[in-house]
Amino acid sequence: MRKVLIVDDSKMILTLFRNELQYFKKAEIFYAQSYKEAMRIVREHAEDIHAAVLDYNLPDAPNGEVIALTNSHNIPSVVLTGTLDKRVRDVILKKNVVDFILKDDPSSIQLAISAINKILKRYDTTILVVDDSKLSRELIKMSLETVHIKILEATNGEEALEMVYDETNDISLVITDYQMPVMDGIDLTFALRKKYTKAQLGIIAISAAEDEETVSKFLKFGANDFINKPPVPNEVITTVSSNLEVLDMFEQIKDMANKDFLTGAYNRRYFFDAGNAIFLKARRKEQPLAVIMLDIDNFKNINDTYGHDVGDIAIKEIKRVLDENLRASDLFARFGGEEFCILLEDITRANTEKLFEKIRTKFEENVIDINGTRLSYTVSFGGAYGMASSLEEMVKLSDKALYESKENGRNKVTIQTHEN
Ligand code: GH3
Ligand code: MG
Ligand code: MG
Repeated sequence: MRKVLIVDDSKMILTLFRNELQYFKKAEIFYAQSYKEAMRIVREHAEDIHAAVLDYNLPDAPNGEVIALTNSHNIPSVVLTGTLDKRVRDVILKKNVVDFILKDDPSSIQLAISAINKILKRYDTTILVVDDSKLSRELIKMSLETVHIKILEATNGEEALEMVYDETNDISLVITDYQMPVMDGIDLTFALRKKYTKAQLGIIAISAAEDEETVSKFLKFGANDFINKPPVPNEVITTVSSNLEVLDMFEQIKDMANKDFLTGAYNRRYFFDAGNAIFLKARRKEQPLAVIMLDIDNFKNINDTYGHDVGDIAIKEIKRVLDENLRASDLFARFGGEEFCILLEDITRANTEKLFEKIRTKFEENVIDINGTRLSYTVSFGGAYGMASSLEEMVKLSDKALYESKENGRNKVTIQTHEN
């Protein structure tokens, strides 16, 4: 589990972070109200803190001293500051800081969290360095040490190709030299671009500055960028970071098209895109599927009684409970309002019933604490099990079963078997 440290002497700011990070799954969060406390936490967890949000001005460390603390432990840090006058700017620039955020920005907490997300993401990002010279590879590796990216190495283009093709490596970016035995960097770039777009895989060429022709060849064959030889740490970091950010942006655009803004769950369109492939495979193999529709009971009452914002929290809770109780391979999406649809493969009818009876109970017993307001609600489920003429048809059938659950008093699971 990753660990994040948040240091701020303001109780209010820590509370805002606590609220926003209540269900944060990517890391365990440690909160400190002073430099002293931060020091204790950093010591206790030795080299094991992965990111930090730091208040520039703490009562026992008024001039950004806490930045030196995380710097000395190689913890990537984001700084929150009330002012950005020249003195503060100079201190921040001299230190190793990923980002700084002004406290009076109304979205400062959100900005800090998204910076943290970016830092954490890097720990799971893999880069492949391709160069026949060990020294050259080492130079690049050393340059990237402070960024905590996973680095793999290959000594020629052919080896590199195999490593990129191996999906378990999950390589985001390839940094490649030109001249290498077996397969050179330009042939490698050409081969990679046959299979991966610039949005799927970044390619950075390493090239001697005077060799403009090679650079233009690289770019023509689809490299995203280049760095000069011999690599200088600062240049490597900025080029790699900006290219990773571009890849992140492509991913975000994809997410925006496929995911629902409120909950982060997939949307209806994605459900049918991804679901149809699953449906066709299951039908070919004559294997049953389960499509389950769920809908919050008397949701209008929640909105009417507590307001729309609380209603939104109730909807987000559905995504959380489903994440916790479904397999990663199960597909679910928000269909609209407080209605979600789930597609499961490789499951028997009996287990489908058991699973959703369990999830129904989870909702029934769940109490959400919203700043002291205790909210609970029940959920109805309708399922179509087996096979039908299309995924759309199975969704329609599950909707009918859901209607039956509602008719029979709500807080129920109704699953019907269909054969096609
Ligand atoms: P039933 O038990 O029959 O499902 O009753 P219900 O009150 O849940 O009825 P229905 O499903 O028709 O209610 C849907 C309501 O959801 C109506 C709409 O105002 C509300 N709604 C739709 N989208 C959102 C949203 O994004 N946020 C919030 N807070 N409410 C939403
Ligand atoms: Mg409802
Ligand atoms: Mg509804």
